[in-house]
Amino acid sequence: MKIIDTLNKKEKGISFEFFPPKTEKGRKKLEETIKGLKPYKPLYISMTYGAGGGSQERTKSLVSSILKNHPQIEVMPHLTCIGANFTQIKKMLDEYQAWGIDNIMALRGDIPQEAEQENSNPFKDFSCAYDLVKFIKEKKDLCISAAVYPEGHTEAESFEADLNYTKAKIEAGVDFGVTQMFFDNNYYYDFIQKARAKNINIPLLPGILPLTNLDNVTRFCSGCGATIPLKIRKALEKFRGSRQDMRKAGLDITINQCRDLIDNGFSQIHLFSLNKLKTTKTILEALNL
Ligand code: FAD
Repeated sequence: MKIIDTLNKKEKGISFEFFPPKTEKGRKKLEETIKGLKPYKPLYISMTYGAGGGSQERTKSLVSSILKNHPQIEVMPHLTCIGANFTQIKKMLDEYQAWGIDNIMALRGDIPQEAEQENSNPFKDFSCAYDLVKFIKEKKDLCISAAVYPEGHTEAESFEADLNYTKAKIEAGVDFGVTQMFFDNNYYYDFIQKARAKNINIPLLPGILPLTNLDNVTRFCSGCGATIPLKIRKALEKFRGSRQDMRKAGLDITINQCRDLIDNGFSQIHLFSLNKLKTTKTILEALNL
């Protein structure tokens, strides 16, 4: 089923993002997480896709096993186009379609450092996610989602330039967007207002990263440019001596962030679950979504 139909039908709900673990132990843990989250009837679950090597095969293998073991859950693989050629992407789409996949997240992906060093051209067939969306739209009848950036993308000339590009990407065939993580809802509310003013009217799900560990979140943010407000940083710094206390304080902040979104009419939320069952359940129980 196309996720956009679910989003249009259901007023509220949660989707979960997972990543393909490198080890068998991690894979088993993820299977437990999916089983544990199933009763919450997620809007959908998505599986990230790395910029090369074994991680891509792991994504496919996990998507295949979720289809087999959890046919009630809609699963959406991510697909990045950087460094890929038309033939490879077409083959992947053909395969996913043969498996019954109806949804795909179309991404450019981060530019691999090796590519810069070797001076090769990772943009030969696809220069950006816009190209991938167009390619998928021309070839397949799939529900397409894409990444959007409430604080602007780090490579964008300006927020305005980013939004103009995002509009073009969406008009090429995106059915719904998922935002980059943010920790101050005002970024999201402003972004939604500006997007709607530009006639971007598709669902743009807020992407929420649980604040369980300040150092890890800081690392993620240094890569993607999301701002950790000083107030949050200070609130968590106090718990440097105790992981458990920091986790509890951080989860309270995340739960309040989600509550504020819901109170403001945004009741479909995307959680970057980091494959963690206990953390995700704590948030879900508090929100009653
Ligand atoms: P694009 O849409 O191609 O571009 C990103 C930005 O570059 C644009 O917003 C715009 O500012 C600028 N830009 C690009 N082309 C143009 C143009 N022609 N004109 C003007 N400006 C342009 N990465 C992974 O490797 N695997 C994943 O599974 C994955 N999942 C993600 C899920 C979510 C919800 C999010 C938010 C990100 C995810 N990423 C993932 C990270 C993503 O790949 C990076 O943010 C990457 O740097 C950009 O990808 P994109 O698809 O947004 O790129």
